[in-house]
Amino acid sequence: MKAGVLALQGDVREHAAVLASLGADVIPVRRRSELEAIDSLVIPGGESTTIDKLLRAFDLRDPLIERIEAGLPVLGSCAGMIMLARDLVDGIEGQQTLGAIPMTVRRNAFGRQVDSSEVSLTWVPDGSTMHATFIRAPWVEAWDSSVEVLATAAGPDGAEHPVAVRYGSRIATAFHPEISGDSRVHELLLASVGAA
Ligand code: GLN
Repeated sequence: MKAGVLALQGDVREHAAVLASLGADVIPVRRRSELEAIDSLVIPGGESTTIDKLLRAFDLRDPLIERIEAGLPVLGSCAGMIMLARDLVDGIEGQQTLGAIPMTVRRNAFGRQVDSSEVSLTWVPDGSTMHATFIRAPWVEAWDSSVEVLATAAGPDGAEHPVAVRYGSRIATAFHPEISGDSRVHELLLASVGAA
């Protein structure tokens, strides 16, 4: 199983380590040939504005959209969730996303870097607990009824907001599953390979 990690910017190594621990053959993706060789992709956390600019500078944006539309299973965490959104609130001028999940994501929704936190979430598919680390995290502000909510978290406004969603074989988390020691989100991604 060739598991790609978009390696333009962000916490590439941590995702690669989790995928390797699950037995995947990990391929850092920086060029088109690498994008063509993989059968799943993680878009890591980092800075979505930078990932967006580099995707375009490396001529990877359009080929990536095409591969996702053709069924490539994809997981975006934090900045990666922002990249997968159809619509964005509080992006910077000219910031583009990949439009892969019919949802609106609010960037930096939980506050600035100092507001990073660790929270216990309820994992909706089985009611279990998942420990999640949030770092300048987004949340899902609006979503199509075809998008499945996998977990929610309380925001500073006191309301619950989706922080993990699935749309077919496209998964997005506002938190960082690659640093929690819990590989269930990555397992869900790898389980979509072949099923897609
Ligand atoms: N706030 C960052 C962004 O807009 C995301 C932070 C993260 O990925 N940890 O991309």
